Amino acid sequence: SQYEISALKQELTGLAMVDDPRLVRQKSRDFFWYSPVLKRQLDHVSGDLVVTPRNEAEVIRVLKACYAQGVPVTPRGAGTGNYGQAMPLSGGVVLNLAEMRAVREIGEGRVVTEPGAIIAKIDEETRAHSRQEMRMFPSTYRTASIGGFIGGGSGGVGSITWGGLRDFGNVLRLRIVTMEAEPRQLELTGEDLHKVMHAYGTNGIITEVEAPLAPAYDWTEVIVGFDDFMTGARYANDLARQDGILKKLITPIAAPTPHDYLSRDHSFARRDQSVVLLMIAPHAMDAFLTFHQRATGNAAAGGKSEILFRSDKTTEEERKNLPPVYELAWNHTTLCARRVERDITYLQVLYPFPGQLELIEKIHKHFGDEVPAHLEFVRFDGDITCFGLPLVHFSDEKRLEEIMTIHEDMGAPIFNPHRFTLEEGGMKQTDAVQLAFKREADPRGLLNPGKMIAWDDPEFDYSSQKTYLFPGMQSAE
Ligand code: FAD
Repeated sequence: SQYEISALKQELTGLAMVDDPRLVRQKSRDFFWYSPVLKRQLDHVSGDLVVTPRNEAEVIRVLKACYAQGVPVTPRGAGTGNYGQAMPLSGGVVLNLAEMRAVREIGEGRVVTEPGAIIAKIDEETRAHSRQEMRMFPSTYRTASIGGFIGGGSGGVGSITWGGLRDFGNVLRLRIVTMEAEPRQLELTGEDLHKVMHAYGTNGIITEVEAPLAPAYDWTEVIVGFDDFMTGARYANDLARQDGILKKLITPIAAPTPHDYLSRDHSFARRDQSVVLLMIAPHAMDAFLTFHQRATGNAAAGGKSEILFRSDKTTEEERKNLPPVYELAWNHTTLCARRVERDITYLQVLYPFPGQLELIEKIHKHFGDEVPAHLEFVRFDGDITCFGLPLVHFSDEKRLEEIMTIHEDMGAPIFNPHRFTLEEGGMKQTDAVQLAFKREADPRGLLNPGKMIAWDDPEFDYSSQKTYLFPGMQSAE
């Protein structure tokens, strides 16, 4: 490499560092292997050194030294991202933020934390303090850090009420440190938040987060079974539109996934049964059951349905085989499926409002068993619609591309989870705000190299259907 890691280590004496190649490699990986494409491209990637700062002053020390010596720095929260976001493509330092995990301050409707705080841990503290909880979290709630969620996530459990992570109001303030000769500490609010949210840590290290809170509930988990998937999807759509029923999760999943992959002892659903997973506030259960009765009680609804599981009617003993329902939803559905069948991967699809139900029906009829349906209902700028994280029985990369193209041709945009760059995984265009901020905050281009095409190759043609090849990628040996 172009830099001397031994000199850097000297410079960082006193900080917690690991350079054992086996351990460094462990901390250089995330859940990229969900994608057979990323698995092929990134499997060999490893940093040279893991540095674990205990506070912001130590972050600044690391950035300053790495800037001076031209060493790349890739931040890492808990490493649960799915697109190789936290993988150091050009080697260098993995900046492990896991030890910066304090919850600093809890107020009415807000919490201030360090970036490495695990989301479930934050919730534990805000619940104990004043019966408040995080409005939204990824299904990796029990393992993911808040800094990693903001740097690389997009929404999840709670998005049915609160929208996406980057929607106005879902993060209140971020404090970041820049990658310069003299790193600066900046407080970002308002419009400025968008400079670094979902930027994969390419333009600043988040050292403090202020996030909004909502009143905490002991959410009631419900699983409703349907003989017909589209009946379940329509039910989910109707329930999502009931603004008076407070809910945190609405997840339709087509048969046979619930039986084959989600239930360890195959107990909660028949093989031909589709399900809708729900989290409902306890005080809304009566209203929910009334909704349920109306929605399924008349013949016009078509197809049979039944409530298969209610956490408020189940003993500890009975639920032994079931994790919390959110660990069957979002990208946990894919994880559960992969535990049973290694050749399964997935897509991320948007079914735009208002035609979502027609589009879902059309697309899933087209693909049949090759692409089993999995939907996540969300509130998107005030309208109810849904994302899909359909499973895909992988055959080869060419067919995977084809499946994505067919989705887009049918009117369902894909957020490609088989690409490691911000642009190809997102809107397939330059994010001018993030790029401009990178010029300011990371002038040498040392933060998480290779993840922002606009920085490396401004001429890249997104319409060419070609995958971006990062020239700075470590070669596989
Ligand atoms: P990491 O993977 O460590 O990092 C994510 C990105 O943020 C990386 O680019 C990293 O460089 C950057 N980063 C980390 N810390 C900082 C920092 N302090 N400053 C700047 N940049 C930083 N995602 C969702 O959005 N919703 C879901 O429901 C969801 N479900 C999932 C289910 C499973 C089973 C899996 C494996 C993943 C899922 N994900 C989901 C993806 C991921 O778990 C979440 O986005 C999670 O919040 C990432 O947090 P992390 O601490 O693991 O981040």
